[in-house]
Amino acid sequence: MIIQRVVLNSRPGKNGVPVAENFRLEQSTIAATVQAGQVRVKTLYLSVDPYMRCRMNEDTGSDYLQPWQLSEVADGGGIGVVEESKHQNLAKGDFVTSFTWPWQTAAILDGDSLQKLVPQLVNGRLSYFLGAAGITGLTALLGIREKGHVAAGANQTMVVSGAAGACGSLAGQIGRLEGCSRVVGIAGTDEKCSILVQEMGFDAAINYKKGDVAKQLRELCPGGVDVYFDNVGGDISDAVISQMNQNSHIILCGQISQYNKDVPYPPPLPADIEKIQKERNITRERFLVLNYMDKQEASVLQLCQWIQEGKLKVRETVVEGLANMGAAFQSMMSGGNIGKQIVSVSK
Ligand code: NAP
Repeated sequence: MIIQRVVLNSRPGKNGVPVAENFRLEQSTIAATVQAGQVRVKTLYLSVDPYMRCRMNEDTGSDYLQPWQLSEVADGGGIGVVEESKHQNLAKGDFVTSFTWPWQTAAILDGDSLQKLVPQLVNGRLSYFLGAAGITGLTALLGIREKGHVAAGANQTMVVSGAAGACGSLAGQIGRLEGCSRVVGIAGTDEKCSILVQEMGFDAAINYKKGDVAKQLRELCPGGVDVYFDNVGGDISDAVISQMNQNSHIILCGQISQYNKDVPYPPPLPADIEKIQKERNITRERFLVLNYMDKQEASVLQLCQWIQEGKLKVRETVVEGLANMGAAFQSMMSGGNIGKQIVSVSK
């Protein structure tokens, strides 16, 4: 059977900015028959995520991520529909997902590697299982619960960087649901800032590309910062950490501003900021959502409930067509997305 697939065409280099041309669309084939335990799936949605930048390097710099190989098919979070099954628990028409879905229009996969999805849990919005009701939502929720020390009634102020992105837009809302009294976002355009405040219930948002972030933070967080959900690192985080309170907490979710640089993870703080962190006893522990998968089932149900109740507003930026995987990735890395960046493959 003839399919289309996307392979890694070239590596950007550890210090290079990734471009769409780092990926290549090509025609390939899959077997005509399905073996025992396998299913044939049609791909519906694929996820593009910042961590994939590390997989473009020969050495990902982490033991839990494997590099993509040149001229081999890329993979990541994906959703599809079963078209033929020789697996006892999967039937034609079932919707399924995996973290290692190949970037191709159809595939033969081991049925044991797939999780069955219940579309009703997300009001039929299947792609949410890659975002708000998937690993992104889990990252926001478990990051806050495991590292945020948020307590209802404690009058805490939370700041979120990368706030209009997939994790950030959920983290601010979840921070509020979990009990923060004030939530301030930092994002890269006025449109994003307006969505955060008008749609997602943030108290305020700062466009870090305009004006002085530190000055605006001082005005918007007069009682200092108690919880910082950090998606970006770099200068923005230095400005936030400088205004954090004694015994406050950083949720070290990601450091996207450093991903095109050959630096260790997490990148060390500048000496003056590290001094503040130590003197004020600010926690900055590494957080990796994959370490909390024992909490996946209950947490996904919580996220789905909030979505159904309208308490969690979800935004997606959907790009059409497998041929646009590279362009979607490039766009997300440079701030082209609002909420979760998804590629719809079916059309
Ligand atoms: P995302 O925020 O949807 O997309 C990235 C966003 O980051 C862009 O839209 C862009 O928006 C912003 N950005 C890009 N370069 C920037 C820079 N130099 N400075 C400031 N902002 C920049 O991605 P996501 O999926 O939600 O991931 C957010 C972070 O969480 C990433 O660092 C990712 O690696 C991390 N993550 C961690 C875990 C975990 O287990 N710890 C799991 C998932 C994701 P602007 O317009 O605002 O610049």
